[in-house]
Amino acid sequence: MKNKIIVVEGDITKLQVDAIVNAANRSLLGGGGVDGAIHRAAGAELLEECRSLKGCETGEAKITKAYNLCAKWVIHTVGPVWRDSTCQEDEFLARCYRNSLALAKKQEIKTIAFPAISTGAYGFPMDRATKIAVKEVNNFLVTNSSIEKVFLVCLGQSAYKMTQRILGKF
Ligand code: ADP
Repeated sequence: MKNKIIVVEGDITKLQVDAIVNAANRSLLGGGGVDGAIHRAAGAELLEECRSLKGCETGEAKITKAYNLCAKWVIHTVGPVWRDSTCQEDEFLARCYRNSLALAKKQEIKTIAFPAISTGAYGFPMDRATKIAVKEVNNFLVTNSSIEKVFLVCLGQSAYKMTQRILGKF
């Protein structure tokens, strides 16, 4: 299944895929980092649709249209804020991947791109988060054939190299 997982470096808003995943916050009303970039690129209509969703719990996922983005859909998921590993952060992060992929399957999405959820403002250690991402995506692909390609999008060379290394060892 590893051949269906592709690591890319760059801006997730530029990707031509069926769906991009947003590392949102519980309000779903926009924020910094990848969330800000997605809202800027998608345009004001995205915020309008997000308002109607009435927020999202940590580990859950909700879908909207993608408006001015190249993608067709945005799947908004809320990663955990990293504290000290004792607050089920690993499990909540795993749920973000599982729930986003389940939603993608339901929507008949074939190609999907994830940012490194929770590894920016939310402070999740990058290597730990990447291992969880690779494990959950692989688990999903083993049992579901509907999704053809999953892109793990990294901002910067060091995140890219680490993700390649972790995927290679998996
Ligand atoms: P969180 O609040 O879940 O930590 P952030 O947006 O702060 O979300 O960061 C999540 C990850 O997304 C970080 O690794 C950050 O480097 C990366 N990132 C930020 N902007 C982009 C973008 N435009 N495309 C892809 N990845 C991005």
